[in-house]
Amino acid sequence: MKRNVLIMVIVLLIVSLGLAFFFFRNSDKTEVSINDKLKEIGYSDKDVSLILDKVSSDGVDEILNIGYDESLIDILSSSNYDENKFSDYIEYYMKNKGANIKDIIDIVNSGFDLFNYPASSLLASLVKEKYYINDNVARYLDYGNNHDMNPKEIVGFVNSKADLGFYSESYDSNLDDGNLVLVNKFYHLKEDYTPSDLISLGGQYNKGANNKMRKEAAEALMKMIDAARLDNIILYNMSAFRSYDYQVNLYNRYIKRDGKEAADKYSARPGYSEHQSGLCSDLNEVSDAFEGTDEAIWLKDNAYKYGFILRFPKGKENITGYKYEPWHYRYVGIEAAKVIYEDDITLEEYYAYYIEKNSD
Ligand SMILES: [Zn+2]
Repeated sequence: MKRNVLIMVIVLLIVSLGLAFFFFRNSDKTEVSINDKLKEIGYSDKDVSLILDKVSSDGVDEILNIGYDESLIDILSSSNYDENKFSDYIEYYMKNKGANIKDIIDIVNSGFDLFNYPASSLLASLVKEKYYINDNVARYLDYGNNHDMNPKEIVGFVNSKADLGFYSESYDSNLDDGNLVLVNKFYHLKEDYTPSDLISLGGQYNKGANNKMRKEAAEALMKMIDAARLDNIILYNMSAFRSYDYQVNLYNRYIKRDGKEAADKYSARPGYSEHQSGLCSDLNEVSDAFEGTDEAIWLKDNAYKYGFILRFPKGKENITGYKYEPWHYRYVGIEAAKVIYEDDITLEEYYAYYIEKNSD
């Protein structure tokens, strides 16, 4: 009985050893033949070990189908190569033979669906921009290829719709956006809109006739004015909420004086003035002379801490549609103000990326 068990164990051992040997030999054989096939179509020993190291077996089949191509080795050697994206690199590369391999890698790595757009260094740098929005890519490329602008500027400019031309399209401002409501040369408030929570700024906080502001914004403004005072900076409102009708009169007066084209550069059309939102304030001195004063510098450096942004900054005229206004501050809340300040963007750019993009 004991002997029978021993024989059975020995037999089983021999059979399993035999099976193991068979499978081992077989797998070795497959490996050898892939090696040979790759070498046969022209890859060097070094290439083959790179391919086997960086490409899955499905990927190797794709390479065998394509045949010898030096650029495939360039793709695999790239420092940004991601093994999981191999098929995407190949698909995009096959459509863009002759393009820069680094651009191809960067564009595929972005993860955006760009297979129908030709590879270019402009596209490769656009996708790396923080505020890149894939829906806008055709307009980025169209604008960027025809204008001397860096990728960050192209993205900001197009996201803001400025490439379409100011006042070329007209949308209702979305009041549900609260403190972030956008009022500019594309988004306008209705004729009868007056915020329901306006309060008056008085005493040391005001020296102007239009002294009303929405409650939260007014309270933040007073807090900011108090803080500035501790730094010996005296700030006060000159003009905050202005009604639609007020803007009608103002705008018509400017047209009469300077003509429509000039008036559009510094004054908003009725409904398109942010002052109707009750969320902004012109402080101290509504004049270019305010630039560079201690008060203007303090505001520029500190307003974001209280939820305010310099609404029409220097160098962003082509995005906001307004010349630099060192006195015009807009309340957006502390969270948004910090992003806008730190990333050096406008409300237009913030709105396009953080509000509009996520709403569709
Ligand atoms: Zn203003």
